[in-house]
Amino acid sequence: MSPLKTRLAPSPTGHLHLGHGFHVLCVQGLAAHFQADIYLRMEDHDQSRCRPEFETSIVSDLEWLGVRTPTRPWRQSERASVYQGHLENLIRQQLVYACSCSRKDVQHQTGQASGELKYPGTCRDLCIPLDQPGTSLRLRLPQGPHSFRDLFLGEQTSSPDEDCGDVVIRDRIGQWTYQFAVVIDDLEQKINLVIRGTDLLLSTSRQLAMRELIHPNSPTPLFAHHPLLLDTLGQKLSKRSASEALSKLRAEGLAADSVRGLAAHLGGLQAKPEPLSLTQLPALFKNFI
Ligand code: GLU
Repeated sequence: MSPLKTRLAPSPTGHLHLGHGFHVLCVQGLAAHFQADIYLRMEDHDQSRCRPEFETSIVSDLEWLGVRTPTRPWRQSERASVYQGHLENLIRQQLVYACSCSRKDVQHQTGQASGELKYPGTCRDLCIPLDQPGTSLRLRLPQGPHSFRDLFLGEQTSSPDEDCGDVVIRDRIGQWTYQFAVVIDDLEQKINLVIRGTDLLLSTSRQLAMRELIHPNSPTPLFAHHPLLLDTLGQKLSKRSASEALSKLRAEGLAADSVRGLAAHLGGLQAKPEPLSLTQLPALFKNFI
């Protein structure tokens, strides 16, 4: 097997919090176990929400947590021409169509009130010009299941055509979407170990389906979807909940080992919130590998 390469892929839309701290320790622990390099990718594809000051704060928190990367951060905002090249390739294969449906339209069409919507393919055969203003571009996904091995969850299978339908790859205002950019970047950075939270579990089979269209027969990465840290109300910690911001914990004088230990405890990896050094991390994952 080729050497493993993993990545940290934060979106600079806010400060990192304790939930990210847990994510980072999972990446560091598994990377140390597999002797994998960790690449840093700023997922700043949504320019309306990203801010340079958040990127600066994220880089500083990651350094404080002891993350070492072999290259400078990769920024999705600098890669428009690469995404455009892949789009043109998919258009040549007639795999892309324009869609005029808003989220509200899809809700109306399907009767789904909330959560992730399954697009029913309304515009699939309408031949709307690809350059029509105000339309998004969707990728025709083939039918059928995709399977992958998850280090934490075991064998996983799901069918993107049943979960979400054809995926938006460029939105109505012309921005590349997370799903499209992440598949291309994982391919081009040759990432073969993807570690992320279970909130993205359902995205994985659609990313494998897209990967197959963009780069047929490329090897499937190894995946590890870790649990999410929840707040006292049982909700996923969000970038808006400033109380757990790593920068705040740092300012209060907590050491990186203490934050790591607290995150590992809240994430169920150690019984007590005892300080945890980088060298102790790999042992926490021995039951999953
Ligand atoms: N940018 C995503 C986030 O900040 C991570 C995406 C991924 O790991 O695939 O949640």
